[in-house]
Amino acid sequence: MNPSFSSYLINDVFGDPGVYVEVRWSKRALLFDLGHNEGLGPTRLLRAGEIFVSHTHMDHFIGFDAVLRVALGRGKTLRLFGPPGLIDNVQGKLRGYTWNLVDGYPLTIVVWEFHKGERRQATFLASNGFQQPEHTHHLAQQLDDPLFTVMEDPIFTVKAVALNHRIPSFAYVLEEQFHINVNKQRLHEAGLRVGAWLKDVKQHIWQGRPDDFRFTVALYDEHRRAEQEFMLGEVKERFLTISRGQKIAYVVDVRYDEENEAKIVALARGADVFYCESPYLDCDAGLLNNRVVD
Ligand SMILES: [Zn+2]
Repeated sequence: MNPSFSSYLINDVFGDPGVYVEVRWSKRALLFDLGHNEGLGPTRLLRAGEIFVSHTHMDHFIGFDAVLRVALGRGKTLRLFGPPGLIDNVQGKLRGYTWNLVDGYPLTIVVWEFHKGERRQATFLASNGFQQPEHTHHLAQQLDDPLFTVMEDPIFTVKAVALNHRIPSFAYVLEEQFHINVNKQRLHEAGLRVGAWLKDVKQHIWQGRPDDFRFTVALYDEHRRAEQEFMLGEVKERFLTISRGQKIAYVVDVRYDEENEAKIVALARGADVFYCESPYLDCDAGLLNNRVVD
């Protein structure tokens, strides 16, 4: 399987926590937490359009400024998701600067904070000096399920659970809706080449187009361009395998108690990659008996 997500720690294991996830073939990336992140460099920081914040202790939020700085002059929408208080924290950061020279800047920052059964949204525009209007939406959330959806995209879903860190600390799980694998051998046998047209095919599937959907793509053989019509269902059947998607779980600062433990186990079950912050090494496992981890 050729994974769609490529994820890694932003810093070394002793640095501020945070994970960067590249969504392959789409020039998109997701950022989990905003600790020190300048090591990512401007290109990767700019690519991160969706940012999921666990909580706003300094080591998880000080990197907001680095993202803001690279995004400032761009026609871009930054989306931040996180626990109650995030809107105030973003506003506090924005109010820390003077903005009289940014009215021509097209940057938009949208912040969602999740309360029980409710989602609050605030939009900050550079063009008006980041004054903010705020809206409240009610969440369709199963109250007996602590896991709730933070963001839905045709390619993936991000869910969160609120863990006890004396304040809510959100743990996240990123799940690819399904995985599309291309059978290159079969393409080859049919005289077709791997190319940008397969990206179009994937887009049609992610957008939920029906099997009888017909589309025309440009195929290139050396420098010769030819157009060919396909039916989506036929392409799926002949050249693609659709399987379970990737799952990545991310858990940072939490108390060690039974409720947190149960929530973390439920969140991370079946994950392909599980990022979990720990102040202890393997050889310190005996200390767990004291149950004082916080
Ligand atoms: Zn913390």
